[in-house]
Amino acid sequence: MKELKDRIRRDGIVKAGNVLKVDSFLNHQMDIKLFEAIGREFKRRFADAEVNKILTIEASGIGIACVVAQSFDVPVVFAKKTQTKNIAGEVYTTKVESFTHGRIYDIIVSKKFLGKGDKVLLIDDFLANGKALEGLVQLVEDSGAELVGAGIVIEKGFQVGGDALRFKGIRIESLAIVDSMDEETGTIVFRGDEQDEQ
Ligand code: 5GP
Repeated sequence: MKELKDRIRRDGIVKAGNVLKVDSFLNHQMDIKLFEAIGREFKRRFADAEVNKILTIEASGIGIACVVAQSFDVPVVFAKKTQTKNIAGEVYTTKVESFTHGRIYDIIVSKKFLGKGDKVLLIDDFLANGKALEGLVQLVEDSGAELVGAGIVIEKGFQVGGDALRFKGIRIESLAIVDSMDEETGTIVFRGDEQDEQ
């Protein structure tokens, strides 16, 4: 998605530890016009699929998921991060290892909001090592809902998550795949850069 890649090139900041900072337009301050374009693009890419629910994870997935959900005209559920032990039986829960914080936390979704009959599209801002997405996939599987696929705004293609999840047969549509980035120069190379793509 050219508009997104141009924006990342203009406003993204490459930080130490393979972190791309996009907090001026994606996950702190949020550019809603860009989000709307992202929503339309996901709708176009998943036009063949029947989606009746969007699932994301707090916190930074929620804003994007809400705008994307308008394109699909479906509700959004977000998995909550929790430290609560011994959660009672009314939630689906699994563990996720955080890329940005290096911690392990539990995520939960109420059984009221995910289950058989749901056709779920996962949405998240980043795909790095894939742990967040794997956790969401697990919740969908546990609930008996159908997983349609995942829409990712920025995939870091040099990290293992995308390949690992695609290898499992999960359909992943990433709007910008970063193949490499350089903290010193700030250079960001996207997959498909050499093609004259839209
Ligand atoms: P994963 O579980 O795929 O390793 O990491 C996904 C989560 O980590 C995303 O939901 C996102 O919040 C965060 N994340 C991973 N890499 C980056 C990055 O380069 N920049 C930012 N801002 N967040 C990231």
